Amino acid sequence: MNKINWRSLLLLFSICFFSFQCTEKKSYYETSGFVFGTTFHILYGTDKGEVESVVFDSLFSLINQSLSPFEERSIISRVNRSEAMEVDSFFSCVFLKAQEISEETEGAFDITVAPLVNAWGFGFKHSDTLSSTLIDSLKELVGYEKVALVENKVVKQNGNLMLDASAIAKGYSCDVVANYFEKQGIDDFMIEVGGEVVTRGVNSRGEEWVIGITQPREENSISTPTLQDCICLGNGAMATSGNYRQFYYKDGKRYSHTINPITGYPVEHSLLSATVLADDCMTADALATAFMVKGLDWSYSYVEGRPNLAAYFIYSDEKDSLKVKYTTSFEKYLIKK
Ligand code: ADP
Ligand code: MG
Repeated sequence: MNKINWRSLLLLFSICFFSFQCTEKKSYYETSGFVFGTTFHILYGTDKGEVESVVFDSLFSLINQSLSPFEERSIISRVNRSEAMEVDSFFSCVFLKAQEISEETEGAFDITVAPLVNAWGFGFKHSDTLSSTLIDSLKELVGYEKVALVENKVVKQNGNLMLDASAIAKGYSCDVVANYFEKQGIDDFMIEVGGEVVTRGVNSRGEEWVIGITQPREENSISTPTLQDCICLGNGAMATSGNYRQFYYKDGKRYSHTINPITGYPVEHSLLSATVLADDCMTADALATAFMVKGLDWSYSYVEGRPNLAAYFIYSDEKDSLKVKYTTSFEKYLIKK
């Protein structure tokens, strides 16, 4: 074969290779597992091949090493023990957002609520005796204005003050995975961590992702829950807080895992769940918990005045039946039954 023939062969090969690359079809992949004491599900479409599951495991592990109070060596655990140290970017991102949401919600969301959460038996440490005197003394340790981030170090007004990022970390981890996909040029995905969700683009049928809003009933199954409504989230983030899964009964009284940082007691009102849509999932997650503290009326008015937010509330009326109220901005997401 002469030189010209070799060259044409090479050209032909390049054309074939190029057209093969152009026509490679997008495939959808799924991965799921356990993280932060809950489950995660990730679905994504790409023409670049499956992302190794170790990538997701490493991202979740980094967040865990930063924000999990159940990890003895995590940054948050070390901050809680008042060890002198600099925090990482996961920690500072979540901390600053938590402080912003605390200010926005008059302290209803508070990352310093840990001592109270622990005392009520929902946290990373448990106390055996619970009395109004103990609650009052623990309240002295709670207050977002008693802690600040100065030059990447957490400055606490009191050494016994402790942080709990449980109500924001799941939403944040959805944002971290979404950010990873975006950097990889992956535009179609659905990320769900413990009920908090971020979606972009379309599913494997080329349709918008449909996300369900669970009916907040104690007996509702976790794996196949009865849904109250379904929405098309579009390119958005959604988080739901509720007091129908994490609670206990003591002496005939029901105690929920959302604590009002101002009173020091678990919240008790007719609001059963708050679903929040926001530009990012960490904001949605923190606001959803704040709304469970603030109750229906305050939360509804708060969202009505803010075009970047939408909310859907489920509450029980005087006859104990489920009622729904959603903000004007939520309407366009709902799939009509
Ligand atoms: P939910 O699905 O109800 O939002 P999360 O796990 O996201 O559940 O949040 C509940 C957890 O948040 C509690 O177990 C506790 O650790 C923490 N928490 C409780 N009350 C507050 C509060 N007022 N502000 C911030 N975090 C809170
Ligand atoms: Mg939450």
